[in-house]
Amino acid sequence: MLGLMQDWPLTVEKVIDHAKANFPRREVVTRSVAGPITRSDYATVWANAKRVTNTLRARGVKLGDRVATLAWTTDRHMEVWYGAMNMGAVLHTVNPRLFPEQIAWIINHAEDKVLFFDATFLPIVEKIAPLLKSVEGYVILSDRSDMPKTALPNATSYEDFIAGLSTQAQWGGFDEQTACGLCYTSGTTGDPKGVLYSHRSNILHAMMANQTDGFGCGAADTVLPIAPMFHANAWAIAFVAPMCGAKLVMPGPKLDGASIYEMMETEGVTFSCAVPTVQIMLLNFMRENNLKLSTLKRVAVGGSAIPEAVLRAYEEDYGVEVIHAWGMTEMSPIGTFGKLHPEHAKLDHEGRIKAKLKQGRAPFGVELKITDDEGVEKPHDGKAFGRLMVRGPAVARSYFKNAGALNEKGECLQPCGFFDTGDVATLDELGIMQITDRAKDVIKSGGEWISSIDIENIAIGAEGVANAAVIGVYHPKWDERPLLVIEPKPGAQPTKEQLLKYLEGKIAKWWTPDDVVLVEKIPLGATGKINKLALRELFKDYRLP
Ligand code: ADP
Repeated sequence: MLGLMQDWPLTVEKVIDHAKANFPRREVVTRSVAGPITRSDYATVWANAKRVTNTLRARGVKLGDRVATLAWTTDRHMEVWYGAMNMGAVLHTVNPRLFPEQIAWIINHAEDKVLFFDATFLPIVEKIAPLLKSVEGYVILSDRSDMPKTALPNATSYEDFIAGLSTQAQWGGFDEQTACGLCYTSGTTGDPKGVLYSHRSNILHAMMANQTDGFGCGAADTVLPIAPMFHANAWAIAFVAPMCGAKLVMPGPKLDGASIYEMMETEGVTFSCAVPTVQIMLLNFMRENNLKLSTLKRVAVGGSAIPEAVLRAYEEDYGVEVIHAWGMTEMSPIGTFGKLHPEHAKLDHEGRIKAKLKQGRAPFGVELKITDDEGVEKPHDGKAFGRLMVRGPAVARSYFKNAGALNEKGECLQPCGFFDTGDVATLDELGIMQITDRAKDVIKSGGEWISSIDIENIAIGAEGVANAAVIGVYHPKWDERPLLVIEPKPGAQPTKEQLLKYLEGKIAKWWTPDDVVLVEKIPLGATGKINKLALRELFKDYRLP
């Protein structure tokens, strides 16, 4: 027997319709690519999204066609986002930090029909345009007056693209399983793979991410997503904020400490989210200039493990609650939140800090398990570590065009139906997960595993250290041993002895790095994380002393 409730497909046009109906004048503030701060609201974003739909339709874009953006986090990006998704086209957010050749490869693979981009990226687009096989039109997200000169064929300014159009346009009316967004993983191994979100998965994921023990945002919040829209949907913030009526502050192209701090203070930001590297820039800027945060209450930190120094700085020096989050593009991206468990109420401050360094527990909508290489489950005792597997309505089943398929149905799933995250983790009896490493980054020393992340997180707290990375290097007896690579703070010269002394007692003795080297800059990947592949390449001929 079926239930007798209404059929209300979970499609994302309902999100912006809801914001327009309930929070029409709630502000959307942007640091525009042209420079000035611009002020919009949900009713205006809604109206311009309708205009985008109208023009896309007039240009022949249909249900299922891909529309690409190469753009910063701005109100216009959000208008294109909803304008394309709501008519059933697939919004493909392209990461501009990839190499131009990779961008061209991804756009061709996705067969994008229209490319919207910020003027910042004109040199990249002009360079790759001759390689693009499917793009029929280019829209520069600028006013007519700021439109840069370009020889690109069929290029218009955004202002012209939507000018004079009606706000009458049909949205929705398709199945909730319809494809909605496309985001390629960085592809540290092999070609990038496209994760194809559905309307249903995006809605369920946003509701899941914004549970009280997750982002926990409401209409009274002012939200600043620093994690860009091209990095796993700005962690769902472009859905979460209009769903709950939070004011939205978009940082545009300026993600440095000074610019972020300015927006936080002038707009009264209460919640923000970013990867640790960006958080470190903000914290350093505040420390160097002796500044305080007057409105920020909570900050979500994820994308890589939170360094203890960042957690302590926010919680102890600035009184800001840190929500450590783990996830990945394939999970839309949220997997766990490091909110304290009721059992942690008994812990003292130091115990809580320790608990918060773990990646945390799964919200409703995510299932976790750890297994050995044969798929046999490992115990949840907080000690045994294994391959972390996940399942849920916002987890990828297959990649776009069945890339990386593991079975004849084209799925990227294990025989048990779970997705292998490529992370190695422990789970304890409370379901709290801790990442020990990426499967490919663990250092295999004499058959035992050493976690590179654990050592990095401690080393970053040593004096004079701006960033720290640990990789495995060849060792004739142990196969691999850890090498600690340090990027010193400007003017600092920490020595090997000082650094190893700092690690003493904080890690197992046999985990102690065999050597320490200083580099000017630790290479970062396209999403701001340490690029271990580049680092291993850099040290491939390195021999331990
Ligand atoms: P990419 O692998 O392309 O950078 P993602 O941004 O999807 O793509 O990265 C996902 C990976 O980032 C996870 O599988 C995990 O290894 C790492 N990660 C994300 N958040 C955390 C965290 N809080 N702690 C440790 N690792 C994390």
